[in-house]
Amino acid sequence: MAEIISGKEVSAAKREELKKRVKALSDKGISTGLAVIIVGNNSASRVYVNNKKKGCEEIGVTSFEFALPEETTGEELISLINKLNNDSRVDGILCQLPLPKHIDEKAVLNSIDPAKDVDAFHPVNVGHIMIGDFTFLPCTPAGIMEMFRYYNIPVSGKKCVVVGRSNIVGKPMAMLLLKENGTVEICHSRTASLKEECLTADILVAAVGIPKFVTADMVKDGAVVIDVGINRDEDGKLCGDVDFAAVEPKASYITPVPGGVGPMTITMLLENTVRSAESKELLK
Ligand code: NAD
Repeated sequence: MAEIISGKEVSAAKREELKKRVKALSDKGISTGLAVIIVGNNSASRVYVNNKKKGCEEIGVTSFEFALPEETTGEELISLINKLNNDSRVDGILCQLPLPKHIDEKAVLNSIDPAKDVDAFHPVNVGHIMIGDFTFLPCTPAGIMEMFRYYNIPVSGKKCVVVGRSNIVGKPMAMLLLKENGTVEICHSRTASLKEECLTADILVAAVGIPKFVTADMVKDGAVVIDVGINRDEDGKLCGDVDFAAVEPKASYITPVPGGVGPMTITMLLENTVRSAESKELLK
């Protein structure tokens, strides 16, 4: 039987800490603000944006919402971002993805000042993550590392297998595990013997986007299993990339979906926003 890693619990503990840090800044007359931009009417994006605003409220961060119509041009969006880059009340800028198809997503993300890029998507911040010298954390992977710390799960010297090589999850996850001295392998859709590779993992991270993709025969006894996936199963029920019921008895620790990795991502976005505001204190 595995111990269930509760993202809700770790997230709540982290938010308590962040609340104190925001208060400490406020006591010194330093505000903390996050600008959240949403373009168009994507209902999933609206839910994410609302949750981010709620998170800000909870820890005392001011959120500035910019809800732009679907027909907004890339130029208009970049012009808004330029204004926010120069607004001292704004410590972090978040542009909710996906953007409408007619907007060049890369150009928009690259227009965010790296010093306010709290999603850590700008190539400058990606570079910092690569060399292990960073201020802004890649949110989802950083949330996973936070869970390891909270549950005293050692990474150093462990064989870590990450399934998925996206720029948002798989690649930065591998970098953070490497920074903590894990022995890291990245698997993906072209990996030759995926099952055999996964079976070598002391820590297995699944970030694939396919419901119940990781089955019990892919997991070593006693492995730590982290499920990043957010999918719907055939009944429309939320599920991860791991077949939880079958894998849980073999694992030492496992994250559920929902209630595992999910709650950590926004919390780490808030951590980045607070870090950005704290850097203003150094300039005072
Ligand atoms: P993505 O589609 O960008 O990447 C998926 C990766 O899986 C790719 O690198 C691909 O090589 C790999 N893959 C696909 N099919 C495979 C196969 N058959 N065998 C091995 N590898 C395969 O997705 P992403 O953005 O990295 O997200 C992955 C999942 O995590 C999704 O379900 C997404 O919704 C979820 N997600 C959750 C959070 C969170 O906060 N919990 C954050 C981001 C993404």
